[in-house]
Amino acid sequence: MSELFQNESIKVLVEKYQTIWSIRHAKSLMAWDNETCMPRGGVLERATAMANLSKLQQKLMLDSDFISLVEKAESAEGLNEYESGVIRVLKREIDYLRKIPPEIIFEFAKTSQEAVRVWDEAKRENNFEKFKPYLEKLSSLAREVAEKLGYEDHPYSAHLDLHEEGLDVKKTDRIFNKVITESRKILERVMRDGFYPESHHLEQMEYEISDMEKVNRELLELLRFPWDNGRLDLSPHPFTITLGVGDVRITTRYEGVDFKRAMYSTIHEFGHALYELQIDERLKMTPLAGGVSLGIHESQSRFMENILGRSRAFVSFVKPLLEKHLDFVRGCDEEELYRYFNTVSPSLIRVDADELTYNFHVYIRYRLEKLLIAGEINVGDLPELWNEEMEKLLGIKPSTYSEGVLQDIHWSHGSFGYFPTYTLGNVAAAQIWDAIKKEIDLEKTVESGRFERIYHYLREKIHRWGSTFSPQNLLNRSFGQDYEPEALIAYLKQKYVS
Ligand code: MG
Repeated sequence: MSELFQNESIKVLVEKYQTIWSIRHAKSLMAWDNETCMPRGGVLERATAMANLSKLQQKLMLDSDFISLVEKAESAEGLNEYESGVIRVLKREIDYLRKIPPEIIFEFAKTSQEAVRVWDEAKRENNFEKFKPYLEKLSSLAREVAEKLGYEDHPYSAHLDLHEEGLDVKKTDRIFNKVITESRKILERVMRDGFYPESHHLEQMEYEISDMEKVNRELLELLRFPWDNGRLDLSPHPFTITLGVGDVRITTRYEGVDFKRAMYSTIHEFGHALYELQIDERLKMTPLAGGVSLGIHESQSRFMENILGRSRAFVSFVKPLLEKHLDFVRGCDEEELYRYFNTVSPSLIRVDADELTYNFHVYIRYRLEKLLIAGEINVGDLPELWNEEMEKLLGIKPSTYSEGVLQDIHWSHGSFGYFPTYTLGNVAAAQIWDAIKKEIDLEKTVESGRFERIYHYLREKIHRWGSTFSPQNLLNRSFGQDYEPEALIAYLKQKYVS
């Protein structure tokens, strides 16, 4: 038993929790397998096995002995910060399971399993009507969930809090108002200046997948990815999955053209993985052994991908590796590569958006989800509203549903309230940038590839704590403020208009 836990009830609790952790471990491994190597024929049986394991997990969480242990431990005096963290995390999970009846959880899981498949077809066929009934069902379930969970100001706040502990509509509105207003001004100037191109000839360059595989592997090597504790595999949608502090896996994908896409998706997932890998060993297999929230997690991937990865210093660092494996890079100077890595242009697809326009895409989804969950619009209104918002914010309009309202998988999972955490990630990444540059010369460190110093900083400020503190407390503790958009605006201004 870890020496971090002294209180007797907490010790028993943490030990009992290991069974629940083991189920989660198994589910993660199965989820990883689903996306990377499971044969198609395994889908149905896998879904049943997953559903049954989830049920078992719920049963153990809601076990009356387990709950009375949580209550007993909670009332104990003088709990240390780790012990309080254990209680906070468990109470949140138990609270959710107690408020949401199993029938709704089951209905949600069943509908979304079907909805993902239909969404995929609808997107390929550009047929919104096909997906509409599923989205209607899922959004009405989501409204029901909000009512069961309860909220103060707005039903959507219940969903925001599910994805990011402590987040509500008021806080999110305030962040977006600032980010969107200021980003618009910066974007206008960037488009006028023309220094950052809207497109680049390297985007057309095709590569051999085997060459790019070498780039990604050797890049991970240079970034000190610990191969004894992780893997890199292929999947259509890159992701990171944690089996434990000692086993964190990432995936990437290769389009065969425009190599920065494969490279940045690998760096992005590496950022997620680093967070999980640097969690204090002593927290392993406990309720605290995982990144605390989606927003904080995304701040780690965005920090690596954008703030370090798209900097001039990173270009100098990575260029020799690119030249080694991609012959068409050999004639480019650093300035040329820097501009290729940093094209800026209003585009239709969120996942392809640059760091300046990305938050506009998130904002559109945030506004629409908020209206939908409040019952102020119907699912049928979404396509048109989507296009209107795109035109208003980015000056472009999708000509198909596939490039518009049907582009993301999230709604087919029944995830409402997820998108804003992407912008929170950008916001917090910039807060980290603002703080770390006072202690570390980022340019020199990145250029020379001495990433350990940066990782050490991130470990102390964020990673090692796992879920010990709520996102808000973690940020306050490490940077003296909650999510605040000022640093993001300062970062964008410095990079794009100074
Ligand atoms: Mg991510």
